[in-house]
Amino acid sequence: MSLAGEPSFRESVDLMFNRAVRVMGLSPGLEEKIRVCNSCYTVRFGVRLRGDIHTFTGYRAVHSEHAEPVKGGIRYAMSVNQDEVEALAALMTYKCALVETPFGGSKGGLRIDPSKWEEDELERITRRFAYELIKRDLINPSQNVPAPDMGTSEREMAWIVDQYQRMNTTDINALACVTGKPLHQGGIAGRVEATGRGLQYALREFFRHPEDVARAGLSGGLEGKRAIVQGLGNVGYHTAKFLTEEDGVRLLAIIERDGAIFSAEGLDVEAVRDWIRLNGGVKGFPGATFSADGPGMLETDCDILIPAAMEGVINLGNAARLKAPLILEAANGPITAGADEALREKGVVVIPDMFANAGGVTVSYFEWVKNLGHIGFGRMERRQEEARHKLLIDELERLSADQDLGWTLSPRFKHRYLKGADELELVRSGLDDTMRGAYQQMRVLWHDRPEITDLRMAAYVVAIDRIAKSYKSKGL
Ligand code: NAD
Repeated sequence: MSLAGEPSFRESVDLMFNRAVRVMGLSPGLEEKIRVCNSCYTVRFGVRLRGDIHTFTGYRAVHSEHAEPVKGGIRYAMSVNQDEVEALAALMTYKCALVETPFGGSKGGLRIDPSKWEEDELERITRRFAYELIKRDLINPSQNVPAPDMGTSEREMAWIVDQYQRMNTTDINALACVTGKPLHQGGIAGRVEATGRGLQYALREFFRHPEDVARAGLSGGLEGKRAIVQGLGNVGYHTAKFLTEEDGVRLLAIIERDGAIFSAEGLDVEAVRDWIRLNGGVKGFPGATFSADGPGMLETDCDILIPAAMEGVINLGNAARLKAPLILEAANGPITAGADEALREKGVVVIPDMFANAGGVTVSYFEWVKNLGHIGFGRMERRQEEARHKLLIDELERLSADQDLGWTLSPRFKHRYLKGADELELVRSGLDDTMRGAYQQMRVLWHDRPEITDLRMAAYVVAIDRIAKSYKSKGL
């Protein structure tokens, strides 16, 4: 999105980067090396469809190769352009460093409106785009590993991995060339929900620290907090679902492309999702008031605002009017650099994108490791774990009977204790640990160093410090 009087998305990311490096004491040369995007490949390719040749434009930007492979989603949208993929690739570099996944940053995009094409047409377009990237090693298990993003899903990842396998028939690690694949095609349990799940874990961790909650002018836990979500796609839907169903958050409003719906009692996320599927938008959803002014709903009074659609939606044009004291950046770059400054001045706390939505890349990392290991998580240990737990339970029950102690273990406890962890539980455990660990590193800087005034700056400092160390140890 290009906004009048505001820097582009990439410039916005660079401005945020510049704020952070000011307090880090790196050499100007190293700062520049970390900041710039290493390369951006543009491809224009033709596909014969509907009796004519259609030319499509796609990009794959590689921001930093301090760690390889580089990692980042592929986006399908008409708004895709070089500036955007470079900005998103930079965010991927910092995000991967922050949550300690061993990747550099990349991002891809195709200028296309997926809703205008049939499934078989999209498959041919995707395979052709993948072909162009694969033959240049811009999709490759050890060099560049894409994932889903806006407008793409498991379906496109399945086509991409199949295309890679056709072109690399003897590559034993072929499945690791892309993540976010369907479970039956080398995917991992919990990847589809991962970004939303990570956002939930991020918010839970924030609310575990009363001092941090107080900085946003809030108190107590998540239960009963009023939220507004923009974008009910993969990320927005899962975030809203988990927060409302598991943490007692009340969802006041959902903003979609066609407008917004509001209900003071709270919206049922599943029901809204079904409604959108059937009707193509939120308009007319029963029991809620509709407003055609979707962006206007961002300004409604609530406790937690969750932009989960696209970049630049909170900008100098509306930042001053926002009422939410806490913003959870589910989308990448939803707040422009100018708006970020205005919000800081108002005392709004922003849980920044590079941390908040890192659940996707974290579980992608687990999927990549699973593909390279050629074995699912928990397969070797699960029954062994169950057998050892059963040994303990049997012994306790024997002791109780022999010594006439009268102990009984509740059936619920026994059931839960005896069950060995499956892949989904292990993935969620690894994700939770990652989100908690990253937040704690950020908050230490936020609290201990007065010049680090906000969580975004703290996130950049943690990430850039790791990348700088990596470059330095390579002798750069
Ligand atoms: P998606 O295509 O599944 O969903 C996007 C949703 O936003 C759709 O429902 C769409 O209708 C809606 N939307 C688009 N423009 C809108 C607008 N102007 N106003 C209101 N609603 C609008 O995409 P997604 O994968 O959920 O990605 C959303 C954001 O999250 C993007 O910024 C993406 O980069 C980021 N993200 C995604 C992942 C992931 O794993 N999918 C991971 C990290 C970050």
